Amino acid sequence: MTQNPFSASFQAKPWWWEAAEPPDRDTPLPDRAAVAIVGGGYAGLSAALTLRRLGHQAVVLDAERIGWGASSRNGGMVSGGLKVAGGDLEKTYGKEEGQRIALAAAASLPFIEETIAREAIECDYVRCGRFVGAWSPAHYDAMAAKADWIAEVTGLPTEMIPRSRQRDFLGSDFYHGGMAAAATGSLHPGKYARGLAAAAERAGAVLVDGVRVQGIAPAGSGFRIATDKGEMVADAVLVATNGYSLDPRGTASPWLARRLVPLNSYIIATEELPEETIERLFPGRRMISESRRVLNYFRPSPDGRRVLWGGRASFRKATAEESAPTLHRRMVECFPELAGVSITHAWTGYVAFTFDGLPHIGVQDGVHYAAGCQGSGVAMATWLGHNVALKMAGAANQRFALDGLPFPTRPTYTGNPWFLPVVGTYYRIRDALDRRAA
Ligand SMILES: Cc1cc2nc3c(=O)[nH]c(=O)nc-3n(C[C@H](O)[C@H](O)[C@H](O)COP(=O)(O)OP(=O)(O)OC[C@H]3O[C@@H](n4cnc5c(N)ncnc54)[C@H](O)[C@@H]3O)c2cc1C
Repeated sequence: MTQNPFSASFQAKPWWWEAAEPPDRDTPLPDRAAVAIVGGGYAGLSAALTLRRLGHQAVVLDAERIGWGASSRNGGMVSGGLKVAGGDLEKTYGKEEGQRIALAAAASLPFIEETIAREAIECDYVRCGRFVGAWSPAHYDAMAAKADWIAEVTGLPTEMIPRSRQRDFLGSDFYHGGMAAAATGSLHPGKYARGLAAAAERAGAVLVDGVRVQGIAPAGSGFRIATDKGEMVADAVLVATNGYSLDPRGTASPWLARRLVPLNSYIIATEELPEETIERLFPGRRMISESRRVLNYFRPSPDGRRVLWGGRASFRKATAEESAPTLHRRMVECFPELAGVSITHAWTGYVAFTFDGLPHIGVQDGVHYAAGCQGSGVAMATWLGHNVALKMAGAANQRFALDGLPFPTRPTYTGNPWFLPVVGTYYRIRDALDRRAA
């Protein structure tokens, strides 16, 4: 392994921003809005787009830049609610409701594909498929027990791939086989965020950046919104702040923050590699994830020249630069031939987990929310934003299964996950034991 894995030109910023860094806008804060949307990621932008299409005025407010959060930092791996469907839904919610939830989550895939096509968003979208590697033979068996259910209930095909066929999907013997999910895709998240923002603006939404919402209070039949740039009023409010919900500089909804567990996810990009190397490591240029609890996910860049390797490298709020060598080491464990390959970019962003493992939309004290995609929100956040907008506009013609479910928190939890280092250590030990038993 290289002693120093960093390239001389290393930058601690998303590689995606080389092509699509979220731009600055200098739109002034309006005095009022029909709908104020707090958070300018996929969820907020998708909600704004749908509200405008239904004829409602919408203003999106972001504390940083529109698309600056997880939405321009993620791995760009697009799935139809695989994470939701992979949970124990029938056990927790009963057969009928469990299946309704899985189906509602799976509908996020056709929805994002339709949005990208309808709005002509140039974001390198490809329905390339995904391979989920099994960390151990026991994990493979657990996956196999779930694969048919997922396919049957969601209508999205899955196939178990034994280790003997793994090289057709991944240029490595690192996993014990895995599951192929053909109805999944990939995109360039920065370009998608920019394109979704442009679509919302074209439809007439007002996008305002550099405005941090610090409180939302009822006022008459609407709401007064306190920000660090002054006040505004709105008839209705949506909070879509996801992994960035709790902030000492101002929290839009403390109620929502108490229900979300923000967790850093980290990614590195390698220097450019020969195209043959990428073709060999990623046959079919599929997206790759795995069954380990301390998850890794990786892919070729859309131009087919780099490996982008992501994972939960630290549970202690390490910087992107501090966590990069850990990701590099994990990449080399899977692809030993990349030992001498250097890192040009490393970055991190917050994902939001929930205590019940589900994404949620709903309304609390009159304020709507959409959040909690468990690190799998490219399609899902877009879909949640659309559904919460339909609800706000009174245009939903059926109940959305992720709407208004009980949204648990924990006693004394305020949104600061002090317990993550302990949980992370526990998960690492469980992963190590599972692998040792293999
Ligand atoms: C490193 C990483 C890798 C990931 N990989 C994948 C992947 O491959 N596939 C996948 O499906 N998902 C992935 N995800 C998850 C996915 O990116 C998110 O689920 C999705 O982008 C969430 O969108 P959002 O609109 O809900 O939130 P975000 O995009 O995080 O937007 C929230 C916004 O709210 C703003 N905000 C917060 N508080 C305030 C306030 N008080 N006032 C005003 N604005 C505020 C923030 O500035 C931020 O811009 C990944 C996430 C990360 C971080």
